[in-house]
Amino acid sequence: MKHTPSLDDPIQFIKGVGPRKAILLEKLRLTSIEDFLYFLPFRFEDRTQVKKISQAVPGEYATLTGQVLNAGIIFMGRRKRVFEVIIQDETGVIRAKWFRFNESYMKEKFKTGEKIILSGKLTLNKRSGLEIVHPDTEQVSGENVDSLEIGKIVPVYHVTDGLHLKSMRTIIKNVLDKYLHLVEEFLPDDLIRRHGFLSRADAIAQSHFPPQESLLSELDAFKTPAQKRLVFEELFLIQLGLAFRKKHTGEENTGTPFKTRGKLIQRFVKLLPFTLTGAQKRVLGEIMQDLEKEKSMNRLIQGDVGSGKTIVALTALLTAVDNETQSALMVPTEILAEQHYLNILPFCEKLGIELSLVTSALKGKDRKNHYENIQSGKTQIVIGTHSLIQKDIQFKKLGLAVVDEQHRFGVLQRGALGKKGDHPHLLIMTATPIPRSLALTLYGDMDVSLLDEFPPGRQKIATEIFFENRREKAYSILEEQLQQTRQVFVVCPLIEESEVMDLKAAVTVFDSIQDQFPDYTICLIHGKLKKEDRQDIMSRFLKNEIQVLVSTTVIEVGIDVPNATVMIIEHAERFGLAQLHQLRGRVGRGTHSSYCLLMAYHPVSEEGQARMKAMQNSGDGFVIAEEDLKIRGPGDFMGTRQSGMPLLKIANLLRDIRVLETARKEAFRLIEQDPDLTIPEHQPLNKALHRFLGNYMELTEII
Ligand code: ADP
Ligand code: MG
Repeated sequence: MKHTPSLDDPIQFIKGVGPRKAILLEKLRLTSIEDFLYFLPFRFEDRTQVKKISQAVPGEYATLTGQVLNAGIIFMGRRKRVFEVIIQDETGVIRAKWFRFNESYMKEKFKTGEKIILSGKLTLNKRSGLEIVHPDTEQVSGENVDSLEIGKIVPVYHVTDGLHLKSMRTIIKNVLDKYLHLVEEFLPDDLIRRHGFLSRADAIAQSHFPPQESLLSELDAFKTPAQKRLVFEELFLIQLGLAFRKKHTGEENTGTPFKTRGKLIQRFVKLLPFTLTGAQKRVLGEIMQDLEKEKSMNRLIQGDVGSGKTIVALTALLTAVDNETQSALMVPTEILAEQHYLNILPFCEKLGIELSLVTSALKGKDRKNHYENIQSGKTQIVIGTHSLIQKDIQFKKLGLAVVDEQHRFGVLQRGALGKKGDHPHLLIMTATPIPRSLALTLYGDMDVSLLDEFPPGRQKIATEIFFENRREKAYSILEEQLQQTRQVFVVCPLIEESEVMDLKAAVTVFDSIQDQFPDYTICLIHGKLKKEDRQDIMSRFLKNEIQVLVSTTVIEVGIDVPNATVMIIEHAERFGLAQLHQLRGRVGRGTHSSYCLLMAYHPVSEEGQARMKAMQNSGDGFVIAEEDLKIRGPGDFMGTRQSGMPLLKIANLLRDIRVLETARKEAFRLIEQDPDLTIPEHQPLNKALHRFLGNYMELTEII
């Protein structure tokens, strides 16, 4: 019986894919026909022009043709075997080299006198002259007319050990031959017309094997009409999912809306030692408006480090309590949870509110008591780490959940806290400002409030890079600040994957500072300390009983000690940019001028250098975030599901921000017009969206 091809075929149905290749392909996440269709080349080579050997320029990619003069193994050094083929045309000779090869296969393939075509990057070897390493090659014979390799603009795919580029090209070609006609359009006609898009099938075909007249520069920049259509398509589906979710979130929620600005809040505001900034008032206004609605709040506060998010969060938490519900604040680290707890506790005591701290440090009977109080409703506000989302925690009535420093949590955890209640209001706070393109994608379904103003009197933090030879200078700044009764943070990085090694490095730094400054109290804080000891050190530091706090990266987020004016970051070259910015945000919180001293050690990678420069050049978290995206590239920035980011196959948030904005506009417009995608001409789109979202778990929870 003849098999009728279907896009759901297993990949073994593709010509050229057997069990062995299937395993290799799986490594590249190629497990369905659709995966292949969208597995686009990351680069192209222009092999439309065949050059003479004499025209070949080292450093360039070129396609050459000639006769095999000689082929065989040569030895370089004692062990290293290289397969070398010498090729000649009427203008000169060139050597092709392979460092990994199968001897008998190569000998069979390259016979003296045969004419071959080869393509690859040219290099100049000091001893043997012009050469080309691991080129693509092909025998020249009468049948070469339909070659995938030569005389064309040729796609270059990511491959993996054991899978040659050439087989990949052939496999892709076979997939297109067999399945392309099954690819259906799903974008609405009107949208295609307005943007002049290619059809989906044409876009896929041309993105793999571009038409002869395509420009290499456009292809490599992903700007051909075919590529642009596919980029749009991917971003459009994500934005459509977000638009859908935004439209429908909380719709079914018929819970009682909150009364805002109640008695508790009025009493609380009187307790504040400062007046709120304009931005804090504005953002609180936005939050209160949300809370008064029947639909549950789904809001993101973006505010740079030190902009005063905690008070905003606390006001929201208290509003929930004022409405006889419980509220929770989830943060990413124990130390930060403890610190928030200590900050918030005095307010709660004065207001007569039951506050509870839940972390994994909570054990035994203590833990049982806390959990019972949360379940019975006795506890009104809970602060905690991801312990809060464990199964055995149950709230009596969770009215509001706040997640701080959310970029540290996976997307799933964000959703999980919300599930602890019946559609509680949700507030997310992010301190590391993220690039706009990322924000639109990660939080595209949320309402966004910007906390874009700092409390008054903040000083710019002077940031300087010090290498080993200038340590003295760094210490003199430190000394001067200590004399003025200011305090100092010293942060040591993750050096090894082991906490023990980290600690050792921190101890060395601690010893050296203690030697230099014997008159001051210096303490070492790290993750291995008991909670009580850590709390003790933190509260002594807060009271200036400790002047210098040496720590592993545990203090990274959220710590607030306004009298601290110096942040020393050891091995600053090893930290990520967002992390550096976070750390720097620990100082400059009071009214004194502050310093961030980046201690670097050679050798420093180019990226490390760029990161430290970016720190020196800007104090603005948004500028730093964009810089970070540039330095790291979006692949790394959002490479993992952990980061909460859907894995983009085609689009690139750095390169495609324009397309993203367009896709977003179109998607939100469409959902306004047809909120459930039910009108007949949107059926294919509806289907495509569901299929697509199958890969993005969190979004599917709502659809
Ligand atoms: P972040 O946004 O980084 O979480 P915090 O909420 O920790 O910032 O606030 C940073 C510091 O600014 C804290 O010491 C806090 O008490 C103080 N602060 C917050 N709001 C104001 C304000 N309106 N006026 C003066 N100081 C403020
Ligand atoms: Mg904070």
